[in-house]
Amino acid sequence: TEQTLGQLAEESWNRFDDHESVFYEGVWHRSHTLAERARRMCGGFVEAGIRPGDRVVVMMATSPEVPIVYQALWAAGAVVTPVVFLVGVEELRHILADSGASAVVTSPELAETVRAAAADVPVFVDTAGLESAAEHGRVRRDPGDLAALMYTGGTTGAAKGVMLSHHGLWQVAKDAYTMSHQDGKNRAIVPVPLSHAYGLIITVAGMHATEPQQAVLMRWFEPEAFLKLAAEQHVQYGTVVPAMIQMLLAQPLESHPLPDLAYLTCGAAPLGREALEEFERRMPGVQILEGYGLTETSAVTTFNPPGRRRAGSVGLPLAGYTITVRDSEGEAVEAGDVGEICVAGDSLMLGYWGEHEPDPEGTALVGGELRTGDIGCVDDDGYLYIVDRKKDLIIRGGFNVFPRDVEDALNQHPDVVMSGVVGRPDPRVGEEVVAFVQLRPGAEASAEELAEWARDRVGRVKYPREVRFVESIPVTSVLKLDRKALRGRL
Ligand code: ATP
Repeated sequence: TEQTLGQLAEESWNRFDDHESVFYEGVWHRSHTLAERARRMCGGFVEAGIRPGDRVVVMMATSPEVPIVYQALWAAGAVVTPVVFLVGVEELRHILADSGASAVVTSPELAETVRAAAADVPVFVDTAGLESAAEHGRVRRDPGDLAALMYTGGTTGAAKGVMLSHHGLWQVAKDAYTMSHQDGKNRAIVPVPLSHAYGLIITVAGMHATEPQQAVLMRWFEPEAFLKLAAEQHVQYGTVVPAMIQMLLAQPLESHPLPDLAYLTCGAAPLGREALEEFERRMPGVQILEGYGLTETSAVTTFNPPGRRRAGSVGLPLAGYTITVRDSEGEAVEAGDVGEICVAGDSLMLGYWGEHEPDPEGTALVGGELRTGDIGCVDDDGYLYIVDRKKDLIIRGGFNVFPRDVEDALNQHPDVVMSGVVGRPDPRVGEEVVAFVQLRPGAEASAEELAEWARDRVGRVKYPREVRFVESIPVTSVLKLDRKALRGRL
C-alpha cells in the first residue's frame, strides 16, 4: 500500500523492541528514545507554525539529530530541504529565496552562517527547545506530495531545486534496500553526509528495514578514523564514495583487518576497476557494490546486487526504473553501444522547482523520461557502464575526449593523488585538454613526464597538452571532483 514518509517514520519508530540504534561520538542512542524525541519535535514544529507543504531548510552537520529532524518534519507534513553544511552564505541565501523556506534548522556551529543568510526566516538552533513540546500525531499528506526539495548543481550550473515526492523516495529506498540487504548484516558505518541525496536515501531506507538497524555515523570521513571505528564497532557494511576508497588505499590496509565487514556500497562518482580490485585484494572478504544515481532519481538508479556483482559496472536498474541508452537523435541504441543514459519510472523527480531554461546538455525531463546527461552503455544482461558526463566532453580538433579516460590514466601514476581534466577554449583545435594534478607529498614528477605517461595510455589526440600542479583538487561535499571549480581556474 502507498505510504508517506511521515507514516513510514511513525511505523518504524515502534516496529522493533528498544535497541541501540545510532552510534555517534562514543555514545549509542536507543531507538525508542530517538522515536520519542522525533514525536516531540514534530509537536514543536507544529507549535512553531510549520504547516503542511512548508519548505524547511535543514543545514546540520551529521549527528543522530539529523534523521530525527527529517522524520519530525515529514510527520508534520513539511518539505525537507537538506543543505550541505559546507555551503556558504551566498549559496544559502539563494536556496532560501528560491525555495521560499519557512524556517531553517541548524546546529550551533553553523548558526552564524545561517543567521547571516536568513534575514526574515526563523532559525531553530536549539532542537532541544523544539523537543519540549507535547507529542504530536502525524499530519495527513498524500504519497504524491512533495517530501524533499534537494538543491543540486554543485558540480555544474546554478543550484536548482529537485522536487522529490513521498512516493519516489519511499519506492527507491525500498527497492535499493531489497536489492542490497543481506540477512544479519544490520550494522552500517555511514561516513557520507546525510544532507546529500545518498545520505537522505540511507535514512529513508532505514525506515523500511525488516530487521533492527544500527548506524555508526561519522561527522566527516577521515581514513584512519574510519578504519578504527569500523573495527571497534564491528560494522558489517558501509556506505562510501570513490574518493573514500582512494584515501583508504593510501593506508596500510593490511594492518587493519575488518573481519566483520562484508561489503561497501559505493556511488556518486566514478570508482574505476583498478581501485575496486586493489581494495578487494588488500581487504579480503569485503566486496564493493557500486551503484549509480542522481538526485533527480531519488539518489539511486542502478545497483550491483551482492552475488551478481560485475566489477566495472554500476549494476542493474532498481525494480521501479527502466534504462534506455539513446543516440543524439533520441533513438535507442543497441546493447553495447554508447549513448545518453535515459531513465523512466514513476519514482523520478516531479520536476525542478520554479522556472528554468532547459539545458540541452544537462539533466532534463523529456516526455516523462529523465535525460541524465550521462554517457554510458548497457550490456546484453542489462548491466550499466558509465563513460562520462555529456557536458564534460571535450572536443579537440573534431575528436571526442572523455576527461575521465585521461584522469584514469593520470591517476594510475604512482606520484598522483588525484587529477581533474577540463577543456580550455582554443582557437586552433576548438578545445585543448588541460590536466590539473595533485601530487603525493614529496613527489617530484614533472609536467612533461605526466603528459608523456598519459600519451602512452590514451594516445596522441587525447593526452593533456598542459599539466598544471595544484595543492589540492577541488571536491564537493561527497568528495566528487568539482570540474566547475577547475574550469574557473583556467
Ligand atoms: P550536477 O552538476 O548535474 O548538479 P551533481 O554532482 O551536483 O551534478 P548529483 O545528483 O549529486 O549531482 O550527482 C549525479 C551525477 O553523479 C550523475 O549524473 C553522474 O554523473 C554521477 N555519478 C553518480 N554515481 C556514479 C557512478 N557510480 N559512476 C560514475 N558517475 C556517477
